[in-house]
Amino acid sequence: MTMEDEEWGFATNAVRAGQARTGEGEHSEAIFPTSSFVFNSAAEAAARFAGDEPGNIYSRFTNPTVRNFEQRLAAIEGGDSCVATASGMAAIMSVCMGLLRTGDHIVSSRSIFGSTTMLFNKYLERFGISTSYVALEDMAAWEQAIGPNTRLLFLETPSNPLTELGDVAALAELAHSNDCLLVVDNCFCTPAIMRPLELGADIVVHSATKYLDGQGRCVGGAVVGDANLVGEEVFGVLRTAGPTMSPFNAWVFLKGLETLSLRMQRHSENATKLAHWLQQQPQVEKVFYPGLDTHPQYELAQRQQSLPGGILSFELAGGKQAAWELIDSTRMLSITANLGDTKTTITHPATTTHGRLTAEERAESGISDSLIRVSVGLEEVADIQADLSRGLGL
Ligand SMILES: *Cc1c(COP(=O)(O)O)cnc(C)c1O
Repeated sequence: MTMEDEEWGFATNAVRAGQARTGEGEHSEAIFPTSSFVFNSAAEAAARFAGDEPGNIYSRFTNPTVRNFEQRLAAIEGGDSCVATASGMAAIMSVCMGLLRTGDHIVSSRSIFGSTTMLFNKYLERFGISTSYVALEDMAAWEQAIGPNTRLLFLETPSNPLTELGDVAALAELAHSNDCLLVVDNCFCTPAIMRPLELGADIVVHSATKYLDGQGRCVGGAVVGDANLVGEEVFGVLRTAGPTMSPFNAWVFLKGLETLSLRMQRHSENATKLAHWLQQQPQVEKVFYPGLDTHPQYELAQRQQSLPGGILSFELAGGKQAAWELIDSTRMLSITANLGDTKTTITHPATTTHGRLTAEERAESGISDSLIRVSVGLEEVADIQADLSRGLGL
């Protein structure tokens, strides 16, 4: 990162941070689709390999387009260091491989992405790393679950699909007083809404696939944090094991970051309007959204997030049948589990994203059969409402 980048404000960094022009004077960032790099001499090659001289060697290690994306994301998350990964899951896996060893223990929110739960339970478990799960908003449960071998606390906030919040500043304090690191999956908020590192978290992970791209084009991820943890330990895993981001995808994500704050403002505005409208519909029993003053953690949302975000969920009277009928009655909304897109998506968590849980586990997590999740896009709110109206019998 250059000096100027550090002095710029968020929107400027999102548009300009990290760009290093080639001699051609291109205005938009160049793409470097090359697997390897050429040296001027045998001595230069030796110096690069020995780490005595900076510079590119091979795109599994570093690539200029990927570095451009990493520097831009680091600037807007407020981190010293960023490494880009092939997917959001590759980001989480690389953090675990880089920072954990056999015998270590993770305390995680129980409301996390399904594949993250699978990574912890099925794969890390095989290497002797165990995980305990707690209710995101229950600070006493987090404290109780920490043991002598606990090394990481892990959460997403707001949670999917019920939009429960974790208090990042309080959890950072708890982590540090127990010699643990706090890792926050910042996929739902993005740095345009919340910067966990400024609240005390040690590491931020991203699925760039969602809002950072924002247009549903590429799969990618990133890890942001301090230079020792991320620039050394996590980067070491990337360089050795290879779940790196392609330069083509990095270029698409760079373009995504340029409009991130504008998009998050409009996603939040549209979701707020939709949440208030849903609350007024007689068939809707409950709306879950951090921007409503009926949200049980409304005060924390106001303090921790600059905007309420684009994801909401709601419960209908009439159980699973009513939920499926509403989803099937839509003509414009996309029935898909993806989120963070310009296009509004609608999904039934109990039979898709949370379908692998037992009925008891779902009940315990508050995922009812009548729950519907909407990732509110950038269409006209009136058109989103009209599409939902048919299914609500309006
Ligand atoms: C999608 C998602 C992931 C995984 O990201 P991929 O890019 O699909 O690998 C992780 N965390 C959250 C919160 C997600 O929504």
